[in-house]
Amino acid sequence: MPRSHRGSLRLMIYPMAILTIVIPLLLLLLAAAKPASSIDPGFILISAILLCAFFVYRWDISSYAVTVLFLPAYIAAVFLFRGTIAGAIAFGLIVLLWFLLRLRPLHKGLDLDFPLKGGLFYIAHGGGSGLSNYHGRFARSQKYALDITQLNSIGARARGLLPKELDRYRIYGAHVYSPCAGTVIAAFDGAPDALIGVLQNQHAPTGNHLWIQPEGTEILLILAHLQPGSLLVKAGDTILAGQLLARVGNSGHTTEPHLHIHAQLEPGNRIPVPLTFRRRWLVRNSIFWSH
Ligand SMILES: [Zn+2]
Repeated sequence: MPRSHRGSLRLMIYPMAILTIVIPLLLLLLAAAKPASSIDPGFILISAILLCAFFVYRWDISSYAVTVLFLPAYIAAVFLFRGTIAGAIAFGLIVLLWFLLRLRPLHKGLDLDFPLKGGLFYIAHGGGSGLSNYHGRFARSQKYALDITQLNSIGARARGLLPKELDRYRIYGAHVYSPCAGTVIAAFDGAPDALIGVLQNQHAPTGNHLWIQPEGTEILLILAHLQPGSLLVKAGDTILAGQLLARVGNSGHTTEPHLHIHAQLEPGNRIPVPLTFRRRWLVRNSIFWSH
């Protein structure tokens, strides 16, 4: 078993989890530090950097609840310790960064139903910025791909930071529903679930997957890393929006259970197609409540 890969992933996950404590702590210390003047450029610059790190961090590793609780506390601390102007600047920075990281491409995309139901889902990678979506670095067609996890009762994607057991990841085994009406162009089942935290299967990155052509389009949509033996449709099937298709797994080139989804124009040109879900543009740290 390639332990070194798992070891290197741990080396990445643990410092990330420590950042959960370090980033908010530094922001609070900054808020409470004695201001040099009412408009302190150092404060604005360091706040912008730390807030950017705060927004780009993957909060499903520790707990998404921190973001909800911490940001109002930070703004209140700045108002309290540094005064009204600094408080207004901090609030403005948060609003500005929030919007900048959610900028969406202007060209036309595809609007879909959300492919998962029965919980609170989290976008681990998504959006048009390389800061919050690594997919574009690997393939142009995946520029707007999304990796989706599910949050448990404490707002984390799993019980533990990097547990080895698949079923400790909240999303593992979740039903995947068709996000649109269309035709199944290709279906592959039979790849085993990958070991957690081990980068493998580079030769067959999608694992068990479905390629769907949404009705009335020339777009191809993929749902990837599905659970072995869970596919309920085959190539050539006509499917309805909301139809149960498969379960979320960990097959292919993946380090932990999640659902990968992206859309592209016909295989020849591989142009990425931006996706919205019930008209929402989702980026890292977006959450989606789906009944
Ligand atoms: Zn992905």
